[in-house]
Amino acid sequence: MEYTDYMVSKVCQLCAIPSPTGFTRRAEEALMDELRALGYEPRQSHKGNVLCCLGGEGEGLLLSAHTDTLGLMVRSVKENGRIRYEPLNGYTNTAAITENVTVHTRAGKTVGGVIQCTKPSVHVWGSADKMDLEGNMEILLDEPVHSREDVRALGIEVGDYISYDPRTVVTPGGYIKSRHLDDKAGCAILLALAKWVQETGAALKSKTYLMFTVHEEVGHGGSAGIPEGVVEAVAVDMGAVGDDLGCDEQKVSICAKDSHGPYHYGVTGRLIEAAKEARAPYAVDIYPKYGSDVEASLSAGYDIRHGLIGPGVYASHGYERTHMDALNAALGLLQKFVV
Ligand SMILES: [Zn+2]
Repeated sequence: MEYTDYMVSKVCQLCAIPSPTGFTRRAEEALMDELRALGYEPRQSHKGNVLCCLGGEGEGLLLSAHTDTLGLMVRSVKENGRIRYEPLNGYTNTAAITENVTVHTRAGKTVGGVIQCTKPSVHVWGSADKMDLEGNMEILLDEPVHSREDVRALGIEVGDYISYDPRTVVTPGGYIKSRHLDDKAGCAILLALAKWVQETGAALKSKTYLMFTVHEEVGHGGSAGIPEGVVEAVAVDMGAVGDDLGCDEQKVSICAKDSHGPYHYGVTGRLIEAAKEARAPYAVDIYPKYGSDVEASLSAGYDIRHGLIGPGVYASHGYERTHMDALNAALGLLQKFVV
């Protein structure tokens, strides 16, 4: 497909930029640069969201994706120089253990480390399989530190951000494995849509905006900054894959309902029609434990119709996996939806 390579390259580029919620400045700049390079005039809201009008006339349609990711923060430093950390969002111990991380100091220095449980060595403590991980996880810095003072001497303080190593891998068969596909994949799909509109001069049926939010993972990404005249908003976020769900890593998921309630019946219906028209593999699903940016918009008081789609992503909020087919399916759906 024409935009596959572009989307994959953007996924890889965006995943490589540390951008835990609240620490997204470099990711915002990368999106601003790319949209300008595509010939648009993006702008930013006070809270950091990147907004870009693709053109079109009449009532407004907003398509959003979030560029903030999971991450951690330094909570305290133990006497032995290990870091106690605080998750910023959607965290499980099993998905974090043994992950490499980077601590970002306020002075701009970076220090590597690794997340471990407090009894990680088989030859010392035996199996940790039955260990309660809650409260027994820590970060070892990749520096010879043995005390709280040693760590402070590196410039690390409480409140410093910690990002996960994304470990992005693209396989010859088209799978993309990485942390943060939620929602860098959505960002890449929207950038590809912007590129397609610019290159083809597609006749948009609404005044169409893209919004890249930076606080989705803490629930208020879409709560502000929706332009005047927007009556409909569709979030492009990861499609859930797993037990009792029809979506897989080759499909675009259309969400009919999540934990905040049903999506707009008419919008969901038109998203299904667009998928059929595009001949995109799709599934309509209900996500039991999910919330999205467009629901944040509704909670903030915006009077809009809302919908949610996304490429199927397995192992969400862990080491995630999707496939190029899912990116193409989501882009194909959107190309039919906006014209
Ligand atoms: Zn997401």
